[in-house]
Amino acid sequence: MKGLDGRVAVVTGAATGIGMGIVSVLAQEGAAVVLIDLDGEGAAALAHELGQAGRTAMAFEADVVDRAALDVAVDEACAQLGRLDILAANAGIYPTSTLADMSDSDWDRVMNVNVKGALHAIQACAPAMRRNGYGRIVLTSSITGPVTGQPRLSHYGASKAAMLGLMRGAALELISDGITVNAVQPGNVLTSGVRGFGEDFIAEMAKDIPIGRLADPAEIGWAVRFLASEEAGYITGQGLVVDGGQILPEGGIDPEA
Ligand code: NAD
Repeated sequence: MKGLDGRVAVVTGAATGIGMGIVSVLAQEGAAVVLIDLDGEGAAALAHELGQAGRTAMAFEADVVDRAALDVAVDEACAQLGRLDILAANAGIYPTSTLADMSDSDWDRVMNVNVKGALHAIQACAPAMRRNGYGRIVLTSSITGPVTGQPRLSHYGASKAAMLGLMRGAALELISDGITVNAVQPGNVLTSGVRGFGEDFIAEMAKDIPIGRLADPAEIGWAVRFLASEEAGYITGQGLVVDGGQILPEGGIDPEA
C-alpha cells in the first residue's frame, strides 16, 4: 500500500481518544494532519508534539455543530497546505440517559454532534476534494445502533445508525468526483471517554469481547488508514466493523473456553 506522503487529512474530534489514534496513524504514514476539536488546547498540544517529531500538523478549535466555524478551519487548512485528500469525521459524544429521563435537548445534542457534525465535516471538505477529483471520507460510526443496542444509549445508537444512512447517500453523490465515503464501526475502544464509565464497567465490557480486551485507539486508526488509502478506491458506502469479534457470539461466550 502506498504511503500517505503528500496527502492532507482532516480529523475531527482529533485531540484525544479514537481521533488521536487516527491522527497518529495517518501522520505516521506520511499525511499532513489537520486536527479539529472543541478542545483547541488539546488539539494544539498534539499538533505541536507531531511537529516536534517532524510531521506536518496544524490544529483548529471548532465545534462540528457550527458549520461556519468548520468551514473557516478547513478553508484555512487548505490555503496553508494546498490540498485536501482525506476526512476522518470522528467527533462524537455518548452521554447516557434512560428513555424515561431523555429530554428533547439530550436527544438533539447527540444527533447534532454525531450526525449533523459529520454532515458539516463532509460539506466543509468535499469541495476541496472535488477540485482534485480525489477524496477519501471515513466516518466513525459504531456497532452500537447499526448492529447492537445498549440501554441508556438509545439516542446514541440512533445517531450512529443515522450516520450510515448519511454515508450511503453521500457515497452516491460524491463517487463521480472520485470521492469514496465509508465508515468504521468500532466496538469498545479504551479512550478517556470510555474510561469515564469506570474500571468495573470496562472489565465487564472486556468479558464480552472474544479477543479479551478493548481496542487501542490506533487499531481504529489503522482501519481508517486502509479506507483512506488510494488502494481502497473501489470501496464506497460500506461500514467496517472493528470490534475484536464482539458482535459474533451467538448466545454469549462459553465461560469454559
Ligand atoms: P472521546 O470523548 O475520548 O474524544 C472525543 C473527542 O471529540 C474529544 O477530543 C472532544 O473534545 C471532541 N469533540 C466532542 N464533541 C465535539 C464537537 N462538538 N466538535 C468538535 N469536537 C468535539 O471519544 P472517543 O471514545 O474517542 O470517540 C470518538 C468517536 O468514536 C465518537 O464518534 C464515538 O461515537 C465513536 N466511538 C467510540 C467508541 C468507544 O468505545 N470509545 C466506540 C464506537 C464508536
